[in-house]
Amino acid sequence: MKRAETVLFASSGLDRAAEMRRDEAALKKALKDGAGVLPLWRGKPMLEGDFETGAVSPAFRPMGHPTLAKAREAPVFLGRDETAGPLFAVDISGWVPADVDEDQIGGFVDNTVQRHPSEEKTGAGFAELRRMMTGLSVRDAELVATARGLLEWHRTHPFCSRCGAASEMAEAGWHRACPSCGARHFPRTDPVVIMLITDGERVLVGRSPGWPERMYSLLAGFIEPGETVEGAVRREVMEEAGIKVGRVSYLSSQPWPFPASLMMGCRGEALSREITIDPEELEDARWVSRSEMLEVFAGRHPEIAPARKGAIAHFLLEHWLSDRLD
Ligand SMILES: [Zn+2]
Repeated sequence: MKRAETVLFASSGLDRAAEMRRDEAALKKALKDGAGVLPLWRGKPMLEGDFETGAVSPAFRPMGHPTLAKAREAPVFLGRDETAGPLFAVDISGWVPADVDEDQIGGFVDNTVQRHPSEEKTGAGFAELRRMMTGLSVRDAELVATARGLLEWHRTHPFCSRCGAASEMAEAGWHRACPSCGARHFPRTDPVVIMLITDGERVLVGRSPGWPERMYSLLAGFIEPGETVEGAVRREVMEEAGIKVGRVSYLSSQPWPFPASLMMGCRGEALSREITIDPEELEDARWVSRSEMLEVFAGRHPEIAPARKGAIAHFLLEHWLSDRLD
């Protein structure tokens, strides 16, 4: 797919400077010299700008800044930006905001913004990335996705999975080492296939229970051990919708840090048409014609709302509609 690199969270060519991860002296010096550190609170990056229009950017602060005071562990190293230099991120989930509405946080839709008392003048706040992601520049999106993916892994993997001892962050956040048994653990990325299944001029969409009203998207599923991308596409579509898939081709990928997926966008040709849904996975699935999908994207369809903007499903459907999948 020629335009694959225009998907949200596509690579911006960030220099991840892997050689610097082991260079304690260089990391220390960068932080001492005021390198930017992005705080995240319970998976929500601190952003600044216009929260109403969505024109925001990550709010980096130097080490020692009061906003970073409740850091759980050392900062993780994101890479070297051409302009800003070395950049880091830190998890401050230990901070407790004064008035936090627990019911709103971590759900499918979280519209709350938490503001640290030391950021009163700057207007910076912790916002759900899914809500703000389409307003970020390509570079900022890569930085924030990397920070979120890496820090969420540290936050949820504090113990060695081999012996159960508490593990320690190493190499500026790019692995965890177990001081008890010596095992090394690396940040995980879970491969997921997401597929545009077509039957001539129709495309297969479905919705899972619990999704926002009317929202339909492409079918997707985790790749299992011992499985190829093509095999996973065919299995998932058969399991979820009872459709047999023939030829499968790869289109483009998207890192999806909610919390650790790599979405692998594929196209598949249906060999059968009758849909039989698995009610555990799907609430509904249906074939949608090209003209109907145009109505969906225009917001005029009575029963279907489009997949979330920024998500690869939206990206692939948009390109299918305008005949730009190749
Ligand atoms: Zn261990």
